[in-house]
Amino acid sequence: MANYYNENTVIYLDGQFVKAVDAKIDLYSQSMHYGYAVFEGIRSYKTVNGETKIFKEQEHFARLKHSADALNLPYGQDAATLIAATYEILKRNNLQDAYIRPLVYAPANMSFVKNTESHISIQVWEMAPFLGEKLLRVMTSSFQRPNPKGFVITAKASGHYVNSILASQEAKAKGFDEALLTDMNGFVAEGPGANMFYEKDGKLFTPSVGNILPGITRATVLEICRELDIEVIEKQITVAEVKGVDAAFFCGTAAEVIGWESYDNVVFKKEWNKTLSRIIQKAYADRVIEKHISIPEKRPEEVVV
Ligand code: PMP
Repeated sequence: MANYYNENTVIYLDGQFVKAVDAKIDLYSQSMHYGYAVFEGIRSYKTVNGETKIFKEQEHFARLKHSADALNLPYGQDAATLIAATYEILKRNNLQDAYIRPLVYAPANMSFVKNTESHISIQVWEMAPFLGEKLLRVMTSSFQRPNPKGFVITAKASGHYVNSILASQEAKAKGFDEALLTDMNGFVAEGPGANMFYEKDGKLFTPSVGNILPGITRATVLEICRELDIEVIEKQITVAEVKGVDAAFFCGTAAEVIGWESYDNVVFKKEWNKTLSRIIQKAYADRVIEKHISIPEKRPEEVVV
């Protein structure tokens, strides 16, 4: 297990800066018993100028509010205050490359009745940027993503992650690195904590929104593709069509952009370093540290090394 905190770690809790070891949560919290809470996963980076920057902070705190509203959790928070508090705990904990975890949770309430208040905590811990060398062996999960008719799938609700834990643990128990889950109709949806893209014949494909968490990294990848003039097709994707394509990757705040080595043991056609996906991975890595990228004029197959 990672070392998330020590006796000096400072967290933000309901408007106060407190030591992680002194912070307490109520065992009668509705969140604890029913998974009824919402959270965010955010990263900060040390930029090329040496500053600490939270990547896409407005988007993440807007989604936190969306998630709380979607679950009827009272949310009296202001994004600017939360962002300032996050920078403050990064500073107090002496962190630049970090993972940031805001959590909005319910008070003591063993019933299903709506709450009149909620709590918020923000924790940060060290997380180095991922360099993207590792490629994943991915398998189709036997678990499907939650049905959007049973959950608000665009909310980042704690309870949804029981599904993610089951899928991820199943994949690892079977000797794979990660799972790919389908939606309730059997179409490709997403990973336990990341969206997916695949590459074929110079184009990218990704599941359309509707049955997935529309990730902020997914939106960033779409932005990068627009800038690099790479066509992206958002559509319903079958499990069979992902096998034997040129490349595929997961993208998410924690995962960043991470390539796949194989899918259900079928390897991809192209060497990762020669794919458009690799160019996108590098562009993402540059963007988060605010390194200005020069857009390659040539596609990888045309590049003379
Ligand atoms: N799908 C799921 C299920 C996730 O948990 C995440 C991580 N938040 C993502 C996709 C990617 O979202 P983002 O890029 O906003 O981190």
